[in-house]
Amino acid sequence: MNEIIKMSATTLAEKIKNKDLTSVEVTQAFINRAKEVDPKIKAYISITEEYALKQAKESDKKIASGKEIGQLEGVPIAIKDNILIENIKMTASSKILENYVAPYDATVIEKLKSSGAVFIGKTNLDEFAMGSSTENSAFFTTRNPWNTEHIPGGSSGGSASAVSAMTAPLALGTDTGGSIRQPASCCGIVGVKPTYGRVSRFGAVAFASSLDQIGPMSKTVEDSALLLNVIAGYDKKDSTSIDVAVPNYLDTIKQDIKGLKIGLPKEYFIDGLDSDVKKSINEAIEIYKKLGAEIIEISLPHTDYAVAIYYIICCSEASANLARYDGVRYGFRAECDNLLDEYQKSRGQGFGPEVKRRIMLGTYALSAGYYDAYYGKAQKVRTLIKQDFENAFKTVDLILTPSSPTPAFKIGEKSSDPLQMYLSDIFTISCNLAAIPGMSIPCGFSQKGIPIGMQLLAKNFDEQTMFKSAYSYQQSTNWHKQFPNI
Ligand code: GLN
Repeated sequence: MNEIIKMSATTLAEKIKNKDLTSVEVTQAFINRAKEVDPKIKAYISITEEYALKQAKESDKKIASGKEIGQLEGVPIAIKDNILIENIKMTASSKILENYVAPYDATVIEKLKSSGAVFIGKTNLDEFAMGSSTENSAFFTTRNPWNTEHIPGGSSGGSASAVSAMTAPLALGTDTGGSIRQPASCCGIVGVKPTYGRVSRFGAVAFASSLDQIGPMSKTVEDSALLLNVIAGYDKKDSTSIDVAVPNYLDTIKQDIKGLKIGLPKEYFIDGLDSDVKKSINEAIEIYKKLGAEIIEISLPHTDYAVAIYYIICCSEASANLARYDGVRYGFRAECDNLLDEYQKSRGQGFGPEVKRRIMLGTYALSAGYYDAYYGKAQKVRTLIKQDFENAFKTVDLILTPSSPTPAFKIGEKSSDPLQMYLSDIFTISCNLAAIPGMSIPCGFSQKGIPIGMQLLAKNFDEQTMFKSAYSYQQSTNWHKQFPNI
């Protein structure tokens, strides 16, 4: 196996900068790897080989000429296929956007371009990022590189599977209710949902606008910190982005965590928790104690309501956001005789079953007679959940939980039961509702050899505490040095 594909993005950036490797060599190594293993895992919707090699050549030229280079100069990255790259197809894994070509760059893509990153391909997702397994993709299901009978998680399952299978050293995902952290956990990699407002969503397909964030996925904690350095920051094109200075996340990552107060919410250590997950989390807690952290039991009393209110809020916002796909402005247009017919048939044929279910649920929750009882009430409970975290962070610096109640399940196991599927997100959803940052890092394997992830949650805009705690743990373990045998 080519050694390049096992290297971290930080190492690759260093080696490319020092001319130990060329970007073309690196990019080609990942493309070759993708050609070899992607048919088995189907992480990519498209591999943008020509585009990537052209960018790689430009990076090499820039380095050779001694010009100033970016933080990710020449380093390949996979992009979830709900983020726009100018002149490249962007499907959101939906038939309704199957032939849509992006007319402009998302802000994160502009930032990545100026950092010198190389776009290696677009990754599969659940249609419009609605799901936890990639089984809702209109095209195909992505597989978990650790065991191809299992899901890679979702909705950023393509990005997680690509990084885990070493077909890309980095990826971008989006996270509305766990879509970066849950697949990261399923595939044994690192995934970060930044604070709401930290990263611009301009040019990402809107699902639930009060929850959506774009974030990094990588093999190591440093790589995610590096990627967040590049994509974070205020953007006037996204009115929800917040003008708070972006620190260099790598500067503080090696600080020790002696005396750090870590909270364990008692509501997250419930009876239904898988025994392998419980064991790995307990071992991680012991490691944190050895690193000098103080472990404190806390309570997030409104946790029980999180899944229910998340699904009211995300479906309501999705029903409004997805109104734009009408067969007129962009995307798929059905054959029809009149305008009403055109709307109905284009949407009827263009959207898959999960998307339709959510549009219907959301439209109902927002309808005049029910608005107060559903959407209005859900917003009030959301405030209570946010207050739970504010109270908890008065006594602790960080919160530790499992990322998911079970390791990645088998493909098909939950696809006919939406409620069971929705419960996969039970530990990740509150973070989006409260707008705080969260990440998942690998912390073990199940008896069957499927990865297990641990979630760390921090205060608003305190990604630094999260990164240094994740890094300390990573340096005391070997999980990030294990690769699937695919
Ligand atoms: N799995 C959750 C859902 O289906 C979260 C999705 C996401 O974060 N995009 O809504």
